[in-house]
Amino acid sequence: MATEHVKCLIIGSGPAGYTAAIYTGRANLSPVLYEGLQPGGQLTTTTEVENFPGYPDGVTGPVLMDDLRKQAEKFGADIRHGIVTKADLSKAPYTFEVDGEKEITADAVIISTGATAKYLGLEDEKKYAGMGVSACATCDGFFYRKKKVAVVGGGDTACEEAIYLASLASEVYLVVRKPYLRASQIMQERVMNHPKIKVLFEHNAVGLYGDNGVEGMHVVKRMGEADEERYDIAIDGFFLAIGHKPNSDIFKPWLKTDEVGYIITGGNTPCTGVPGVFAAGDVADPHYRQAITAAGSGCKAAIEAERFLNK
Ligand code: NDP
Repeated sequence: MATEHVKCLIIGSGPAGYTAAIYTGRANLSPVLYEGLQPGGQLTTTTEVENFPGYPDGVTGPVLMDDLRKQAEKFGADIRHGIVTKADLSKAPYTFEVDGEKEITADAVIISTGATAKYLGLEDEKKYAGMGVSACATCDGFFYRKKKVAVVGGGDTACEEAIYLASLASEVYLVVRKPYLRASQIMQERVMNHPKIKVLFEHNAVGLYGDNGVEGMHVVKRMGEADEERYDIAIDGFFLAIGHKPNSDIFKPWLKTDEVGYIITGGNTPCTGVPGVFAAGDVADPHYRQAITAAGSGCKAAIEAERFLNK
């Protein structure tokens, strides 16, 4: 297997990875970035991004990511297609396998592999992707002013998203599979007492319908042990909030993660505890998960990598 050595390896190509590439490129660290399964990351699946500073007229997710990539390339970042399939962080330089066929070693590593929103696995979620199905209320909620939407999930994220959407939409259905919410008490109270939110306990969304994007969802209500009722609810937007899966599996043997898999970093820094290994963006952020916060942490990781390499 051919082995290549690089000073600074960046794994993942969302706002965190590209920002880290801009900074490490400008610092002459000759960063090599592998884009991963979805070049550009989660934002490439959204349409309009209106809350990234610097774009008063908004920008589409794919254009924003393309701009970030070009800016990184301008400073010499070597951006490559490829998926890092294995990692060995047991000793420096750290060793990685790309696409199962190439070995690469690095003195410093920035992990910015992001998180993947979980979906229910319905065929209709794919059919209506970008046409009424979203996993990010903060990103897409604006398009549902005075419309009806559904949020699936019963955790804190679902409750937060339902409350956020209720400030815009005319009606919000919270579809909860259990007879109770898993969210914190305060969020439960807010949701239950909100005049625009209707909580549908023991309901499952099983399909969507509509000729021009989502026009409604098919639901099943569980009634006792054996009985169920099937009916349809008219909605314009269908939001998933059933959790995210941080893309940290290959690093877990060496890095501390929380019970969900988010990489735990030291305090307000991107330091993982393994010297020269930094984590930035959604893979290390269960709380904010915004493009701008990811970009900010990518910047921090790059500065830490530069300090580490220049030590
Ligand atoms: P959680 O794992 O806490 O909740 C996921 C929810 O989705 C649960 O209600 C779960 O149901 C439901 N769910 C999962 N899979 C399915 C499915 N296939 N069909 C239907 N429903 C499903 O994830 P969150 O993203 O809400 O929260 C993650 C962590 O982040 C939590 O610790 C949370 O407290 C924290 N958080 C904190 C916030 C804050 O403090 N402001 C804001 C947001 C999150 P079930 O209960 O049946 O498993």
